Amino acid sequence: NVSVVLFTSDLRLHDHPPLRAALEDGREIVPLFVRDPAVDGAGFAVPNRLAFLADCLSDLDAGLRERGGRLVVRHGDLVGEVCRVAAEAGADEVHMATDVSGHARRREDRLRRALEADGVRLHVHDTVNVAVAPGAVAPAASDHFAVFTPYFRHWSQQPLREPLGAPRTVRVPDGVGSGSLPSRSGLAGLSEGLAAGGETEGRTRLTAWLRDELASYEEGHDDLAGDVTSRLSPHLHFGTLSSVELVHRARRAGGAGADAFVRQLAWRDFHRQVLAARPDAAVSDYRTRNDRWRSEAEAREDVEAWKEGRTGYPIVDAAMRQLRYEGWMHNRGRLLTASFLAKTLYVDWRVGSRYFLDLLVDGDVANNQLNWQWMAGTGTDSRPNRVLNPVTQAKRYDPDGAYVRRWVPELRSLEAPVVHEPWKLRGLDRAAVDYPDPVVGLPDGLDRFKRARGLG
Ligand code: FAD
Repeated sequence: NVSVVLFTSDLRLHDHPPLRAALEDGREIVPLFVRDPAVDGAGFAVPNRLAFLADCLSDLDAGLRERGGRLVVRHGDLVGEVCRVAAEAGADEVHMATDVSGHARRREDRLRRALEADGVRLHVHDTVNVAVAPGAVAPAASDHFAVFTPYFRHWSQQPLREPLGAPRTVRVPDGVGSGSLPSRSGLAGLSEGLAAGGETEGRTRLTAWLRDELASYEEGHDDLAGDVTSRLSPHLHFGTLSSVELVHRARRAGGAGADAFVRQLAWRDFHRQVLAARPDAAVSDYRTRNDRWRSEAEAREDVEAWKEGRTGYPIVDAAMRQLRYEGWMHNRGRLLTASFLAKTLYVDWRVGSRYFLDLLVDGDVANNQLNWQWMAGTGTDSRPNRVLNPVTQAKRYDPDGAYVRRWVPELRSLEAPVVHEPWKLRGLDRAAVDYPDPVVGLPDGLDRFKRARGLG
């Protein structure tokens, strides 16, 4: 008896329900990953994520080899490849995790039909990539929660399955061919400070972070320079860590930091249940507010300045440069740079979300598109018209200017508060700083969005 375990965005051995189910009754398994050109074509294949993926697959293969198995990698249409591998291995079942994007769900349906035609059963597991499955909690009159607070109340009360250990041994049948593992080398355009991927790396980081930083998370998670957030987002995106295990381990550690961290994990599930119910929200406004955003072509110079981190607002520029250098950005930076593009510059949120997806190692359809919509006031924010003032944000979340000085070397000689408002320097002091004037002045920039929405 042979089972195929199809890995997608769950590239780990610990707490992996499809793997555990496939191994039942001492079965042989084929651990399979398919590089599908359709996924690449949909915008996944950017250098930072391909590099992280390569790390994850090498580590997964190494973990399987330690247990007597190996990873089978195929290239091609996922449905066709899974059917071929099942036939080559003589498998009668396939296990995989469910996912929420429209693409993933159509693919799952196609796969089920194709396998059934070959007499192979598809088992889909729904708490592999989330702690609480989309649809597991829903309000009385709808298929999903549109507001986070009541969602979180229900989410918190859901029973959580116990995390599973990694299997001790894995037996893979002979005769199933594999393509080569992708590798980092040869990938051009990587962010210099890109993190390393893989389950081993993720587990090491998780353990160290819970021990050293969790306690300061509640107080420090918005402090840009302090940088105490977990940075586990790429591991959650690629599934090298499991949300179920994270919730358990944080709760076991306890305290206000753990509560705040678990709440962020619930935000992740929240956006997933929105996208599962409204797959169109990946590209269209979740709530239509009749915005007449400026397109990238109409706002070319502003958009370029934003992307390149030279808007003249130091906090915005610092965050955009962190994104380019690390392929990752602090959440507070994401919030204020998104508000700046969508509201202060009044540019279509899709221009910004596309740029983020081009660089973010954790770039994720649900989290990225729905957070962008949240910030653009077309999503689930109950205060859709709020505009973040970049100067106020800077003074609050980078009070002594250390984050700006870290990422904007032109301003390294300045102290707070002027490091956040270099346009206030006069004469020779201003001339000594090689840094652009703001692309748009305040308060004009802050009012533009309100005017555009007819709010006076
Ligand atoms: P921590 O603070 O340690 O949080 C732990 C985990 O909780 C994160 O790893 C993440 O999985 C989840 N989480 C935290 N905040 C959020 C949130 N607001 N929404 C959903 N899940 C959350 N996150 C992504 O994973 N991928 C994206 O593409 C992405 N794009 C974003 C775009 C914008 C405009 C904004 C405002 C936020 C975006 N986020 C995205 C959410 C959030 O900024 C990141 O998850 C977080 O900064 C990752 O850092 P961390 O792992 O240190 O987070």
